[in-house]
Amino acid sequence: MISELSGKLFIGGGWKTGAGAGIAVLNPATGESIGEIAASTADEINEAVAAARAAFRGWADLPAKARSAALHRLGDAIAADADGMARIMTMEQGKPLNEARGEILKLAEACHFYAEEAVRVHGEIVPGDTTDHHSLVIREPIGVVGAITPWNYPAELVGWKLCASLAAGCTIVIKPADLTPFTALAIARKVEEAKIPAGVVNVITGPGSVVGQALVEHPGVDKIAFTGSSSVGLRIQQSATTVKRMSLELGGNCPMIVTESADLDAAVKGAVRRSFRNMGQICIAINRVYVARPIYEAFLAKVKVAAEALTIGNGLDKPDADLGAMASADPLAKTKEHLADALAKGARLVTGGAAPEGEQFARGHFFRPTVVADCTHAMKVMSEETFGPLLGVAPYDGLDEAIARANDTPYGLASYVYAKDMDEVRYLTTRLDYGNVAVNNVDAGVMNAPYGGRKQSGVGYEHGREGMLEYFNFKHIRIRHDEPKGR
Ligand code: NDP
Repeated sequence: MISELSGKLFIGGGWKTGAGAGIAVLNPATGESIGEIAASTADEINEAVAAARAAFRGWADLPAKARSAALHRLGDAIAADADGMARIMTMEQGKPLNEARGEILKLAEACHFYAEEAVRVHGEIVPGDTTDHHSLVIREPIGVVGAITPWNYPAELVGWKLCASLAAGCTIVIKPADLTPFTALAIARKVEEAKIPAGVVNVITGPGSVVGQALVEHPGVDKIAFTGSSSVGLRIQQSATTVKRMSLELGGNCPMIVTESADLDAAVKGAVRRSFRNMGQICIAINRVYVARPIYEAFLAKVKVAAEALTIGNGLDKPDADLGAMASADPLAKTKEHLADALAKGARLVTGGAAPEGEQFARGHFFRPTVVADCTHAMKVMSEETFGPLLGVAPYDGLDEAIARANDTPYGLASYVYAKDMDEVRYLTTRLDYGNVAVNNVDAGVMNAPYGGRKQSGVGYEHGREGMLEYFNFKHIRIRHDEPKGR
């Protein structure tokens, strides 16, 4: 399956072999090459944008019900091939097969969610200052969207942009991450199967600094929908050469607060799941935990047991492993750097700290879930995004101290609270400066509610009705009425 997608671009409803240089794509669990992608040329980028532009009017003018039906067909086609698409994702990204399959099914769910939203695009009638005028406020699709996505969730992070764009009536050019391009190309296959008109969805590949940047600077692209690091997001915001709308879903450095009233076992379960799932390569991963001092040592003892119980494996051979390989050498190197920094500054190693032992781990990017205690904000693990399986823990004395530490970051994506006392819950949730606050659960992003960061974690929203609003312009139509003749 990957061999059929190798070197291909999906432009204007057809497949073509990219003319640019080939870039190898590696399986992070084994280091083996699984195929290559083409670095799209300037002509190919122009061709993709032109195809999206040519398709725009026809797609936008379709009845909403027809766009909705197309998205339902896409969701069905994706779900029907969940196993095949999951295999592709595991081979390029490293996550266990069951996790990959779950992500593909969530992509299908996103298609169905936005299929349903597509038929609920309402406007407003606003009363005027005088009775002889009134204002209609309607929503119109922005136009051509350039979507640039990272490698940690190669299906969902494409899907949220794709589905919301198409539901709104926009067309799209997608540039997936170099590490995980084949999932996006496999989605293009499903677009074809779902008989979505030619040019509505296009996928081009190549280095972000060239191909992604070209979309940012392209005068034919009306909006950039980007998920990735804060540094690249800032560069994108600063480097557009024509005014365009942008939504930027960027990095995080997410805190969790565990108060004395918390269900400790539930808090430990949540902390371990949201810190280590996908090897910590999640923008809303819990990076740091602040625990009320009286329960601090008990929390650490339980977290050690829970982290050590997680299973690690090559995601293809061990489909039900909890954790697979990290996606590449870079996030693994950063994890080790943050760990060394914490230990050098006095942190206590609770568990992990090395690669798992065994021949099966020798060539891939594997690391054991690692917990360090007694951390301070002088340590990188508490102040920078690690994007790896490393969790820093510190005790606190008093809710105000926990809040001050939790908010002591340039990021504002997600935060977590475990507490049973509702007064504590209210006090904490109203003071945490984050776009998402999950209480007694660790699912800060769900499809039916808006998901977005503040501060250096970005601007704009995905998920929910709000996620689709990002793809509309409002138009105000002000109508003057005269007295009818012959009244
Ligand atoms: P990057 O910012 O490095 O890359 C993201 C995408 O941008 C890739 O497709 C990349 O291409 C492309 N890109 C790189 N440089 C440019 C440029 N100058 N102009 C346009 N596009 C460019 O992020 P990662 O892929 O490393 O992903 C990890 C980051 O993503 C983390 O910081 C994480 O927190 C964040 N993230 C945020 C989420 C959120 O919802 N807020 C969700 C998931 C991840 P290429 O691959 O070719 O380099």
